[in-house]
Amino acid sequence: MLVDYHTHHVRCGHAVGDLEEYIQAAIEKGVQELGLSDHQPILHLPPEQIFPGSAMPLEELPAYVKEALALQAKYAGQIDVKVGLEADWIEGYGETVRDLLAQYPFDYVIGSVHFLSGWDITNSAELAGWDTRDAGEVCTEYFRQVRLAAQSGLFDTLGHLDVIKRFGHVPTALYEHLLEETVLLVRDAGVCVEVNASGLRYPCAEQFPSRRLLEMMNSHDIPLTVGSDAHQPKFVAEGLDTVYDLLREVGYTHIHGFTARKRYEIALT
Ligand SMILES: [Zn+2]
Ligand SMILES: [Zn+2]
Repeated sequence: MLVDYHTHHVRCGHAVGDLEEYIQAAIEKGVQELGLSDHQPILHLPPEQIFPGSAMPLEELPAYVKEALALQAKYAGQIDVKVGLEADWIEGYGETVRDLLAQYPFDYVIGSVHFLSGWDITNSAELAGWDTRDAGEVCTEYFRQVRLAAQSGLFDTLGHLDVIKRFGHVPTALYEHLLEETVLLVRDAGVCVEVNASGLRYPCAEQFPSRRLLEMMNSHDIPLTVGSDAHQPKFVAEGLDTVYDLLREVGYTHIHGFTARKRYEIALT
């Protein structure tokens, strides 16, 4: 069963297409469960420090959820639409995010580390940030934040776990150790990890997480979700055939979906 649990839409300011266009694209591609998971409004920066087009403004969030719920009802019987959010893990803002999430009937919440302090490590417009920092220190801090996100209990699945490699900055000496430490902690936290196909379209040219990480995760029975991270309707489900094949090769037999933040198994067929 083909499912896609990570998509965005026009409200975030850097994606195109409205929610219904993503749903229609998903139906055309044979997707049976589609997760709407636009970016959480930025809560940790004053408005003047927010990079333009990072996420929807806070005042748009109620309209997003309302529209998503209406579409879920409209398309019931054709496709199972899940109403979600890609939330940010920012150290010190966990309670703020918890309060925000509690206000809405989300089916699931992705927890992603995009920001190290004010720097968005996933934004190609902020690549200059690497010039003044040590790549080893950046990766060490990134995975420390991922572990805190896992332990926070705020999220159902962890988004693009090794996205720090997106633009090719990976310090090999430290990396294996960081991955092992992170996998063990994620296992103990009991949270899912997302397999995100968007990495196939970036300079790193592979899904997040890497095959090596997926093998480690399989040996510890860490549950998975899958998503395209589409920012255009045409990218819905893009790369998920490759991801499904890889997961079977690595030894996974099922992935997971969510309704009302309750997890269930989906066979990898
Ligand atoms: Zn985005
Ligand atoms: Zn993300």
